[in-house]
Formats: sequence, structure tokens, C-alpha cells
Amino acid sequence: MHAERFESRWWQTSSLLLAASGEGVLVDPCISLEEDGRIASRADELGLRVTAVLATHADWDHVCGIAAFPEAEAVVGELTAEWLATGEPARAIEESAAAHGLETPGPPRVDRRLAVGVAHQIGPFTVETLALTGHTPDGVAYRVRALDLLAVGDHLSSVEFPFASATADYRATLAALAELLRRDPPRRVVPGHGPEHTAAEALAIAEADLAYLWRLHDAVAGALADGATADDARAVGLAVEPCREAPDGLAEMRARNVDSQLHELLPED
Ligand SMILES: [Zn+2]
Repeated sequence: MHAERFESRWWQTSSLLLAASGEGVLVDPCISLEEDGRIASRADELGLRVTAVLATHADWDHVCGIAAFPEAEAVVGELTAEWLATGEPARAIEESAAAHGLETPGPPRVDRRLAVGVAHQIGPFTVETLALTGHTPDGVAYRVRALDLLAVGDHLSSVEFPFASATADYRATLAALAELLRRDPPRRVVPGHGPEHTAAEALAIAEADLAYLWRLHDAVAGALADGATADDARAVGLAVEPCREAPDGLAEMRARNVDSQLHELLPED
């Protein structure tokens, strides 16, 4: 029984191969056709039949490899399935593949939807699921206790700061993850981007990320309380330094976090 992490050359995106009893379960296989092929070869080399493919959320970089494993059951959380059904992620895969000159295996499919918050039998594993909203509304963490491993999608990365679609949700998720890491720590924590962590390392990242989101909250809320306009409060938010650097899209993602923080505090109309 074992688990290994693969890293894409794009954004250090993580894929996992979980193996037991001659069966393989993949988490977020990605990103290019060639990289999916490397994961498939490794499964072959280990004598594994890949019976399930899981996705942590519907962002294109996490679901673009599902189609490379047509024989496996494609398993996602209910909200991820709903978002995939809109066709948006398939469009995002096409656009991003064109923009980055990537060959991808095709649109993602869903064979099985998971209720989130309870355990499921997936391939040879009992897999616990935990809703992680904040980066996207559909994020799901997968915990495989037999492997002492927790996959957390786009949270707890050492190579990105938080990218929040909803700041209040993101803070609640980080607080819940920190609590879990203190009280019931897994040995390995695998984020969607960048290297895996020990529980202690993951906890330090959760605390730093949470401190950043609270700094952002307090700066914007403070400005508004002092009578700032939305534009002035946005400028105050933009001056808040994230907890770590990210390789690409830093300015855009910082601005998105500030807009999300403003939406938490101010009606849009
Ligand atoms: Zn991602």
C-alpha cells in the first residue's frame, strides 16, 4: 500500500497515485497528455489497475486529466459535479490548453457524485471527505486514513498565497483545517500546488494564511468604518502584503482577494 505525488511542470500542480491490492486511485491527474501518460505508465509499472479518479475541485488544472483515464470511475463531490455539468470547466480547459500550447485528453466526465462530509469506499480505500470552501465553492479534501494522508486541493500551499473566491469561507476553512491538524493530524498533507507537508508544516501555513486574510479583512473593514469609499477601501486592501509570493498572476489574484473581501462587507449594488 502506498501513495506517491507527481508534480506538473505547470504551477507545480500535484497529482496523487494511491495504491493498494493491485488497484490505483488517482487524485487530480494532470495537466498535459504527456504528464497523464507518465502517471499511467507508473501505474502500469507497479502492476496497478486504475479504478477511480478523484478531483479536489472543478478548476480546469485539476480536472483536465480525468479523460486520460476512460476505464476508471470519475468520482467528484456533488458541487464539483454540478459545476462540471455547466460545461464551464471544459471550456476553461480548451482555452487554457490553447493559451499554454498544451495537449489535453478531452472534457472531464463524472461517473459518481459524492455526498461531502462522510466517508466513501473508493477503489480499495475508505476515503473521508471534507468540504473546503473558500478557494472555490466546491472544494473537497480527501483523507485516506490507511495511508495517513490528506489531500487538500488549492489550500495550504507553500508556493501560493490564498486565492479566495469568498474570504469569509476561506477563513472558516483554514480555521477548520488548523483544528484538524492539531487534533487529528495526518502524517502527510498534499496541497494542490507545491510540495507535500508534514502536519506541523501544514499548520504553520494555515496560520500564516489565516493571519493574511485577517489582515486583509481588518484593513478593508477599518477603512470602511472610517468612512472610506469602496474605491478607497479597495486601495487600502491592495496595500496588504500577502503571506508569501506566488509565481504568476500575483497582482491579479491579490486584486481578486480584495474584491472578494469588499463583497463580504459591502452589498454589490
Ligand atoms: Zn489549482
